[in-house]
Amino acid sequence: MTSAEAATWYFKKAARIMDVGERIETLLATPLRTVSVQVSIELDNGEIRTFKGYRVQHDNARGPMKGGLRFHPEVNDDEVLGLASLMTWKTAVVNLPYGGAKGGIQCNPADLSVKELERLTRKFVDQIHDVIGPTRDIPGPDMNTNPQVMAWIMDQYSRYHGHSPAVVTGKPIDLYGSRGREAATARGLLYVCREILRDIGQQLSGTRFAIQGFGNVGSHAARLFHEDGGKVVAVSDVHGGVMNPKGLDVPALFEHVKKNGTVRGFPGGAPCRNEDVLTADCDVLVPAAIGGVITKQVAAEVRARIVLEGANGPSTPEADEVFEQRGVLVVPDILANAGGVTVSYFEWVQNMQHVTWDEERVNGELERVMKEAYEKVGQISRSRKLPLRTSAYVLAIGRVGKATVLRGI
Ligand code: NAD
Repeated sequence: MTSAEAATWYFKKAARIMDVGERIETLLATPLRTVSVQVSIELDNGEIRTFKGYRVQHDNARGPMKGGLRFHPEVNDDEVLGLASLMTWKTAVVNLPYGGAKGGIQCNPADLSVKELERLTRKFVDQIHDVIGPTRDIPGPDMNTNPQVMAWIMDQYSRYHGHSPAVVTGKPIDLYGSRGREAATARGLLYVCREILRDIGQQLSGTRFAIQGFGNVGSHAARLFHEDGGKVVAVSDVHGGVMNPKGLDVPALFEHVKKNGTVRGFPGGAPCRNEDVLTADCDVLVPAAIGGVITKQVAAEVRARIVLEGANGPSTPEADEVFEQRGVLVVPDILANAGGVTVSYFEWVQNMQHVTWDEERVNGELERVMKEAYEKVGQISRSRKLPLRTSAYVLAIGRVGKATVLRGI
């Protein structure tokens, strides 16, 4: 099943339970606009190379569309479409006044120089600037894109439309970025995790975590869980992994990554394969790398009691069914990792109002939003006896559906 098919599968499952009817179902599943462009740039050696770029705008019933931009060799139109629809449901679950979008450029940033990446980013903006904007579609960071990339987007867009910091989020703090944005997705995971553990009568302190991916989401999650007394027993990145049942020394691991650029080879634990982290002996599994990694086979071997989806779409629908049968509690991506888009929204609000919030305010507001979303999803789950993923979709589809009908079809 492709990413878009998986996203549609989850959507349809909830829409049928809600009995929204075929007309509304079709309307909500259909993207508003899909843009695909060929981005040609001159490489440092004078060669011309063309890259495929995508922006899919899925739904704007609840407000301007919002979603990340990723640079990855496997980016394709299907993946971007699936991720764009996830953003529609995610922004609705946390009740932000946004719709959903996603974008990507098919490239391997590791093969490009900084100057080439800058040219690629700016050229992409040249080709899509008339369909994005602070009240239309606001990109943000995702895999392999960072505050510097966001700064180039802001600068290039502003050349066409005048000074526009609110066109993109995840910018550097020195250029209209928000305090707390960098760690926001991981912090959102922490807030939801605390709630869920409390509900099952457990504390975060002493809880054992296995984390796949050590980028923005995974590394901050490891740090925050560790600071809260959790034990990080296994981590991995694209190069490999390391595990220690007694708990890894997270600050020392950060030092190792700073020096070596990977968790692989960290002396404070035993080396393991990236896949081993998914089936490690732990209480909470946090997939925080790429989509589709938890297949039916992997799900049958997962030893965690809770799966907290840091990545977008890490579990296939078949895996989700295995988890349901096995009684593994899955906190779905559209709830668990919504902290990033929530603080992106705060950044946009600050930009639109020309104000700056301190980090305490950002984190406090984030905690309120995450707790409220978890509470609402939990209520649906308890009252309708549905898993958390289906409940989150029920909440989101209800909100987007109402906005669609109220605005007029
Ligand atoms: P990132 O680029 O900062 O880090 C990705 C990490 O995953 C790296 O450690 C990389 O080595 C690892 N990785 C890549 N391919 C892998 C593979 N095949 N197997 C194992 N590890 C692999 O990206 P990020 O921003 O941390 O995003 C990670 C996931 O979280 C993505 O699915 C993204 O869509 C999702 N997400 C990110 C944010 C955000 O704010 N950054 C918000 C919501 C969801």
